[in-house]
Amino acid sequence: MFWKHSSPSRVRVLMYHKFDESRSDYLTVTTSQFRKHLAVLTAEGYHFITLQDWLYHIYQGLALPPRPVLLTFDDAYVSNLTLAYPLLKEYGARATLFVPTGYVGTSSSWDSEAEDLLTVGQLSRLDPEVFELALHTHQHLNYRDASPDEMASDLKACVDFFVEHGLHFVKALAYPYGSRPSEPHHYVQMLRVFRENNIQAAFRIGNRINPAVPKDLYEINRIDIRGTDSLFTFRRKVLLGRLF
Ligand SMILES: [Zn+2]
Repeated sequence: MFWKHSSPSRVRVLMYHKFDESRSDYLTVTTSQFRKHLAVLTAEGYHFITLQDWLYHIYQGLALPPRPVLLTFDDAYVSNLTLAYPLLKEYGARATLFVPTGYVGTSSSWDSEAEDLLTVGQLSRLDPEVFELALHTHQHLNYRDASPDEMASDLKACVDFFVEHGLHFVKALAYPYGSRPSEPHHYVQMLRVFRENNIQAAFRIGNRINPAVPKDLYEINRIDIRGTDSLFTFRRKVLLGRLF
């Protein structure tokens, strides 16, 4: 989607995981909470963009709407489709699913409370007007602990998965656990793997608001949205990025 507006100075990226009809916890928001989030964002003049829209802006200078916000859902849970999708559709919102390709059709077994993940068939039938797919490693790999060879083979497995199943995807990645190598040499090795695989952007957590053209495309910040937050806290996080 393209806009005629002049480019905004900042882009907010919100990070969600699971949805539930009644239960909330730090990884799970209820459908009622999510409806309120979408209503608040809409009322406050935010415009929902896709990751692809943003990459076109960053790499090719195409315009973004005023007050752009990017919704991202990590892990591609079934509830993203069954519970979040109808609300996204109702509000004209979009979301990027970061898919750990090695777990598609299984459950989030790395998590203490594993939940079902979307199947290949479900991913292939997602509404492209609402959802886009991007990378979350193949094995939900913690990059802080992975060697460059492990990262390279894991990224290749992701790309192979999308290609093999004919799924369109954006070459951007959300770090599982928001985690990257802490040692500088190791970090540089990761960047080399990214460049070799033409990875265009990578998302951490960070709880900050990004410049519309981030200085470091492999350190893009997301705001951690939790089901344990009140609506007041949600609004404050969206406004400021972090609570204090
Ligand atoms: Zn994850």
